[in-house]
Amino acid sequence: MEAVEFPPSLWAATAPERKLAAPLTGSAETDIAIIGGGFTGLSAAIEAARQGKSVTVLEGKAVGWGASGRNNGQVIPILTSAEPDVWVKRYGAAGERMVGLIGNSANILFDLVREFDMQAEAEQSGWFQPAHSPGRVKLSQMRVDAWRRFGFPAELKSAEETREILGTDFWYGGMYNPTGGHINPLALARGMAKAAEGLGAVIHELSPVTSYKREGAQWVIRTPEGTLKARALILATNAYTGELIPSLAPRLAKSIVPVLSWQMSTEPLGDNLRSKILPGRQAVSDTRGDLRFFRYDARNRLITGGAVMGSYDIANRVRRKAAQSLAEAFPDLGVPEMTHVWSGYIGMNWDRFPRVHRLGPDGWAWIGCNGRGVALGTALGRELARAASGIDENELALPVSEPQPFPVHAAVRRLAPTYLAWLKRKDLSEPKL
Ligand SMILES: Cc1cc2nc3c(=O)[nH]c(=O)nc-3n(C[C@H](O)[C@H](O)[C@H](O)COP(=O)(O)OP(=O)(O)OC[C@H]3O[C@@H](n4cnc5c(N)ncnc54)[C@H](O)[C@@H]3O)c2cc1C
Repeated sequence: MEAVEFPPSLWAATAPERKLAAPLTGSAETDIAIIGGGFTGLSAAIEAARQGKSVTVLEGKAVGWGASGRNNGQVIPILTSAEPDVWVKRYGAAGERMVGLIGNSANILFDLVREFDMQAEAEQSGWFQPAHSPGRVKLSQMRVDAWRRFGFPAELKSAEETREILGTDFWYGGMYNPTGGHINPLALARGMAKAAEGLGAVIHELSPVTSYKREGAQWVIRTPEGTLKARALILATNAYTGELIPSLAPRLAKSIVPVLSWQMSTEPLGDNLRSKILPGRQAVSDTRGDLRFFRYDARNRLITGGAVMGSYDIANRVRRKAAQSLAEAFPDLGVPEMTHVWSGYIGMNWDRFPRVHRLGPDGWAWIGCNGRGVALGTALGRELARAASGIDENELALPVSEPQPFPVHAAVRRLAPTYLAWLKRKDLSEPKL
């Protein structure tokens, strides 16, 4: 069987090994077919198996090869700009259920890790969003109030408390959520796959789906070597929807722009620095559009990253930028060397709202993580599996909408990196509240 090359990430170097499952060959039948073996697809497989359904996952490369194995591993129960009140305004009761799902999403993920004793280096140490300007503290306050109105445990931290949490006075205050934290993402994906298989789910890797089609009362899903027939279908390919097989679901693929996000890790920090910088080991992403973010891994490395414009020498430029950003915030650290540098696609859409779509009878998908899909993908995977298992969608957090492809997708994709320049300019001014 051919091998799958993973990006040179810290996660690929540290996650427990997984033996590749055999590709789909010949004809097979299942009740629920899932395309994509990331957090969404694997969480859906666990839930479908729990609902007593036969379930088969088809993954084009390997479990966790997409965004799920490449991300920063921050488990965040809050989205970038999709605020709770706006969900309700847009989608009514389904929007309100979605707010509940997002607010519970970190707990859903950590509970799953605990239930199956997954070796995923999980730390439910909280998530903190420090404000990078005094005006952003007001924004943090508004977001805290909004989430608390829906019953979720968001807290505003003062400048003093922020200094204690981070070990620096680089930020001005911010929003804290105690249910967040971080994981080793590839280890989590492999842990989920093991849990799903333990419950009877079938996983085929190296099985890129070339087409799916409704034929009579069934979905017929084709790979280069096999055909799978299923009553229900979940498409869980997210930002990678158009990357392996461009013709798989072109309308969905064109409803997002895949944007490269770079990640990297420092050497393990010594005890002295470790106790001064971020002593509580929270996951941190600030209020900038040109985001500053970091967290520790299990070996006390700081995992951070960023984005730069243009394609020339990109890995080195982003490495220097991220190292400088850490040094600016934590002068005692100096400019750290980075041991691993890697990247992956984030699926952005125009308003940064994730979308749930109906593909046909008993066919579901979600797309558009906008950089916040670790907790959300895990929670939505469970929800999609419940819908596919026959639970009334009116009881579920599934605010369904029609795909809205970008009209000149190729051009938008080419221009996407310039979005960063706009975000950087926005970061310099205070928000109008
Ligand atoms: C660099 C980076 C950093 C991020 N950091 C964070 C973070 O810290 N916190 C956070 O909340 N979110 C973060 N995200 C977003 C988060 O990782 C994703 O939203 C989440 O992992 C999406 O999971 P998924 O299962 O929906 O999709 P994926 O994990 O992308 O899985 C999709 C799978 O579908 C497969 N596939 C594609 N086409 C086919 C086909 N034709 N047939 C079969 N299989 C196919 C792919 O191989 C892939 O494995 C980050 C993303 C990236 C890229």
